Amino acid sequence: MSALSINIQLNTGASIPAVGFGTVCDEANKGIFKEALEAALLEGGYRHIDTAWCYGTEALIGEVLQKLFDSGKLKREDVFVTTKVWPSLWANPLKSLDKSLHDLHLDYVDLLLQHWPLAFDSDENGHPKVPKDEQGHVKFAKGADYLDTWKKMIEIYKTTDKVKAIGISNYTVAMMKRLLEQTDVVPAANQVELHPHLPQVEFVKFCQDHHIIVEAFSPLGSTGAPNLKIPIVVDLAKKYGVPAVDILVNYHVQAGRVVLPRSQNIKRIKKGFSEVKLTKNELAQLDQYGIEHPKRYICQDWGKGIGFEHWG
Ligand code: NDP
Repeated sequence: MSALSINIQLNTGASIPAVGFGTVCDEANKGIFKEALEAALLEGGYRHIDTAWCYGTEALIGEVLQKLFDSGKLKREDVFVTTKVWPSLWANPLKSLDKSLHDLHLDYVDLLLQHWPLAFDSDENGHPKVPKDEQGHVKFAKGADYLDTWKKMIEIYKTTDKVKAIGISNYTVAMMKRLLEQTDVVPAANQVELHPHLPQVEFVKFCQDHHIIVEAFSPLGSTGAPNLKIPIVVDLAKKYGVPAVDILVNYHVQAGRVVLPRSQNIKRIKKGFSEVKLTKNELAQLDQYGIEHPKRYICQDWGKGIGFEHWG
């Protein structure tokens, strides 16, 4: 069986495909992005797209979706689409969402995430995406509270048909506690960096205890896929006779998490991922590896000091 056909239930009751297609794209790969996404949807078996206003790929995704909807090869309800509100548009998530919907050629998204619990001092159109002062330090909006964005997202969720669910990304446990104390919608998901070098065991438990689905970004260790070389991952791949990438994907889906691998390599995309029934003990061993060898790959300067472990 393919890991791509596994679904998980959100706290809204909706179903989310456990494997989503990551859509960060380097400038150099933009030329093949549409072909890659089409292959993912038509041949790879992907039914979940993870994007964001800030990735600059939404218009390309919109072109592919429109083409596949028009040709009847795909229906809107066949595909789960997530987008995100970037901190430069923290004050106006509706504007962010409307721009995303326009570019994606969609009437609604299945999940809208607050990309970071941060507020940048940008203009009303969200530019620059990361404002900096003369010393190169990120400029944060004075007096802003990241929960203001979440409260506005709740309003969108309750009063429009533009989002089926709302969630968060890059929130720590302390931030989730504050959100749960001060607002009345439990996020459907929290998307964070997670892999066998960064298992975040207590964080994962907190989310599970509060019915917040954990979504794992940078599961391969981001560009260059360094996690494919983790010794225990290589050993398990040998044991099960599968490529190492299948172990990195099943580390999440077998534990009830969403995973968001990225590839713009058509051959890899078409291959997909096999389901590998890792035992509880093997999942615990993968966690243990990260407890002993912690490494975070995505450490942008705006996230410094937020409170995530192993930053930088
Ligand atoms: P990944 O961890 O998915 O790694 C991507 C890299 O792995 C690419 O270089 C890709 O190259 C390579 N790769 C993929 N499959 C294989 C394979 N089978 N063998 C060898 N190499 C492989 O990277 P990302 O950091 O992009 O994370 C994935 C997604 O998570 C993002 O695209 C985005 O959607 C989301 N994300 C969310 C964030 C947030 O703040 N919420 C932050 C970061 C990411 P190739 O293209 O050549 O296959």
